[in-house]
Amino acid sequence: MASDNSTTTASQIAEKIAESGIDSGDFRLSKTFGKLNQLGDAAISFEAFVDIVSEELLMVNRALNKQLIIPDWQDFCADIKSIFDQVENNKGGENADYIPILKMADSEKWGLAMCTVDGQRMALGDVDIYHSIQSVSKPLTYAYALAKEGVAFTHEFVGVEPSGRPFNALDLLPDKRPFNPCVNAGAIMTAGLVASSMPEDDAQTITGLIMELWSGLCGAIAPVRFSEETMLSERDTADNNYAIAYQLKAQKGLPRGVDLYKMMDVYLSCCSIEMTAKMLSVAAATLANGGVCPITGEQILSTEIVKKTLAIMQAAGMYDSAGVFTLEVGLPAKSGVAGAVMVVVPNLMGFATFSPRLDSYGNSVRGVEFCRELVDRYTFHIYDNLSGGRTGCKRDPRESQSNRKKRDLSDLQWGAHNGDLYANKVKELSVDCMISICIADGEIEDAEIQSITDAYAEIMGQPADHSLITRLESLGRGQGEQSQAANSTVFDQLVGQLETERLYLDDMGREIILESAFRVACSDGVIEESEQRQLRAIANALLISEGVLELEIAGFQRKVAALSPPS
Ligand code: GLU
Repeated sequence: MASDNSTTTASQIAEKIAESGIDSGDFRLSKTFGKLNQLGDAAISFEAFVDIVSEELLMVNRALNKQLIIPDWQDFCADIKSIFDQVENNKGGENADYIPILKMADSEKWGLAMCTVDGQRMALGDVDIYHSIQSVSKPLTYAYALAKEGVAFTHEFVGVEPSGRPFNALDLLPDKRPFNPCVNAGAIMTAGLVASSMPEDDAQTITGLIMELWSGLCGAIAPVRFSEETMLSERDTADNNYAIAYQLKAQKGLPRGVDLYKMMDVYLSCCSIEMTAKMLSVAAATLANGGVCPITGEQILSTEIVKKTLAIMQAAGMYDSAGVFTLEVGLPAKSGVAGAVMVVVPNLMGFATFSPRLDSYGNSVRGVEFCRELVDRYTFHIYDNLSGGRTGCKRDPRESQSNRKKRDLSDLQWGAHNGDLYANKVKELSVDCMISICIADGEIEDAEIQSITDAYAEIMGQPADHSLITRLESLGRGQGEQSQAANSTVFDQLVGQLETERLYLDDMGREIILESAFRVACSDGVIEESEQRQLRAIANALLISEGVLELEIAGFQRKVAALSPPS
């Protein structure tokens, strides 16, 4: 803030902080927001500003100077919104129908909430709807058992292997333990462990303690609730779960001979805990942050326990499609049959989706699709960092997009200028792409020549040289005699060339080539269908993920919309 700027108001400063993703209720800025809110629209001087923020100076500085884990928070939110809107169109799947409250739930609901490890939060759609957390409870009942009973004793009763069987199967490991804490048998056993550790307490009291754990995990942003209706219906329809419980009792034996009905009541009550997507996103962020809740700063679970909980979620969190989910999404997650999916991006953020329609495995259809689309655009899959810089040009929101682009372009310009062969190869391919995208639609006009030379100047950092302009002009002249088919052949040849060259191109080179084509395609303010097809073909040839191109297109359309006068 400039010291001579005395016209800034307190509410403008509050707004600026909020743009970084930090909520006005955040404990780290309680004093600052308290004072700013009191002052409202009053203009404040630089001295007054310093006085207001001094007690929370470091945090204010981080928020105002883009030093939080996702620096370009507003851009990131806009990109996420484009995925959210796209996924909303998916009407596949069916509500769970084994109990009325789930069968009758509004299938159209769709919500997404995110929280970073720095406590930046966003929420879209139906994020305040309380729903039973169902199987999302399972990894945390396991974490509770680990905290209370220790690792060795807990694992005497429950295994850590993916089962490859439906979540409610009666199968056990050869040593009679349930496969893992995320299948019903394992979750019933961990409920038994917790129940057995508190012989004096009833199921209700024990569930209350587990709810306190959830409350700590979600930073108590809203009350954790319990649905009596869900619990009663669950109990009425729990024959299979009782069969599992008897099987556990008969085979392995229950921990400390705990009463089977008390164990089942704890299990079914945990399924009947109610939370919202917003709350689950903060809980997931606490897991992403090694057990420390980002918005209260409190250590809720030890990092060691979180590590184990995430490993179990990774191996078995998504029912018996956990393997495919790990392959495609590569993140620890847990779903529940009410339609929640809670996902952890370690060291970065947690998020939760809510949409009641489920696939045949019991996972929310939209929730899973959102996860797939997300990792198609961002380097969130745990193995994205293995690809030697070739991630399909996926983005890492930890780095400012515009800074990265600027850095890459200045590297290219410097290299090309000094005769670097690789930089010159990227430059040539970029120019070829610009030209092909222009002539592929059969119209190379003066305005298009101008747009290529402008894009060239911007990307190469120097005006288009004489040979390029001559080449463009002769293409322009000759083009009139070219048939549409011949123009398409030029484009096909380019695509073929990119497919060959991509073996030698890193992400930076690929991205600059696509960017060049992109700038020419959108130079007239619209990206026509045909241009989108060409951009897709170029992106495919370069193995750039489709989602990344979608982000570019959506970003461009947002810019155009922001510039056009309101109708
Ligand atoms: N209450 C359900 C059951 O025990 C849990 C279902 C789930 O979310 O997987 O069958």
